[in-house]
Amino acid sequence: MQTNFSLAQLADPHVAESEKILRKCVHCGFCTATCPTYVTLGNELDSPRGRIYLIKDMLENGRPADKEIVTHIDRCLSCLACMTTCPSGVNYMHLVDHARAHIEQTYKRPLLDRLTRAMLALVLPYPNRFRAALKLAGLGRPFIGLFEKLPALKPVAAMLKLAPSSLPPASPKALPGMHAGQGAKHGRVAILTGCAQSVLDPAINDAAISLLTRLGVEVVVPEGEGCCGALVHHMGREDQALASARRNVDVWTRAIDQGGLDAIVIAASGCGTTIKDYGFMLRLDPAYAEKAARVSSLAKDVTEYLAALDLPEPLRKPGTVVAYHSACSMQHGQKITRQPKELLAKAGFVVREPREGHLCCGSAGTYNILQPEISSKLRDRKVKNIEATGASVVATGNIGCITQIASAARLPVVHTIKLLDWAYGGPKPEGLSDSILTAAE
Ligand code: SF4
Ligand code: SF4
Repeated sequence: MQTNFSLAQLADPHVAESEKILRKCVHCGFCTATCPTYVTLGNELDSPRGRIYLIKDMLENGRPADKEIVTHIDRCLSCLACMTTCPSGVNYMHLVDHARAHIEQTYKRPLLDRLTRAMLALVLPYPNRFRAALKLAGLGRPFIGLFEKLPALKPVAAMLKLAPSSLPPASPKALPGMHAGQGAKHGRVAILTGCAQSVLDPAINDAAISLLTRLGVEVVVPEGEGCCGALVHHMGREDQALASARRNVDVWTRAIDQGGLDAIVIAASGCGTTIKDYGFMLRLDPAYAEKAARVSSLAKDVTEYLAALDLPEPLRKPGTVVAYHSACSMQHGQKITRQPKELLAKAGFVVREPREGHLCCGSAGTYNILQPEISSKLRDRKVKNIEATGASVVATGNIGCITQIASAARLPVVHTIKLLDWAYGGPKPEGLSDSILTAAE
């Protein structure tokens, strides 16, 4: 694509980066066929190609964002299916991240939208605040019907609907410290404790720690790590996202210096995609660029790390039929497609893949709160495809997808690591009956 940026504009490294990306796009439109919002809404402006034109126009003309571009960029899930499809290697992720930051800096959203976004940014990344907010959600639940009738309050209704009615207690395993590997030592890793996942389902990281240590891997929970920044990054709040990235880079750099790390293991693929991008996000910060690149190179999804180990035979061979839902951040963001399915199959599960596996379930960070209508259409489509597999349980590697799919599916939805941990001798995942996990011990 031909671009028309002035030399003065190109002096801004963010614009220069976006210009490089824009020039790679050849307008072929292949990406439209796999874009969930185009497939759902049928509007070219809600396709990757349409959004690329809108972003190009806004950046070339040095214009503040307007209502039209904000509408179509807000509808983008950042699922990155377009990047998997694109034959020209267009890095839509970095382009849309730049556009979102530009929107945040130049566009004044309506008051309620601003308040909702500010509230999400103030609460979700902080486990204690998020836990307190979820406890308060019970008070608002009786008003869901009322909120749904008022367009500006639909995000509040969506939030209340997604909030679980009870919460598990925080896990002591998530406290800073070290979990020693059993038997011969096979590695040393840090694990991301993160934010929302540690509140909604602390048993996910517990399962990861328990399986890794049983396999002889020492797992460190470094003091001071926190939210990876993805939630605010996708809302265009760059300063907050970069502050989270810098804090985690400092924490993990200390852990590397103190005893070496083979990997930084992450059990939420949305977070993994962002941490693998820290090197890019902090490339212009001389104090962090190198450290951030090192952290990104060590970041591994837990299934990616496990797949590289020489796993023993599992203790249980369940034969349970599992529908594997590949989170967008897993398959498109990190290009991890094979490992989770192969690990499940090796552990004795029968893995089935739903049709339209490339399409997002509509979770996408805060998308199911901020765009509840498109999100629920995508969720229902996903659930229908999952249920058509005839599986008795759904496995996936991202807490957002688990919450989203579980809100409509009739079958249990669990994190892949919980099934693997159980097959290799760990406890039965909560919510799964004996009839689902019929293990031949
Ligand atoms: S990130 Fe997803 S929703 Fe956004 S343009 Fe690409 S395919 Fe469409
Ligand atoms: S597939 Fe790639 S090159 Fe083709 S229109 Fe989409 S982004 Fe541009």
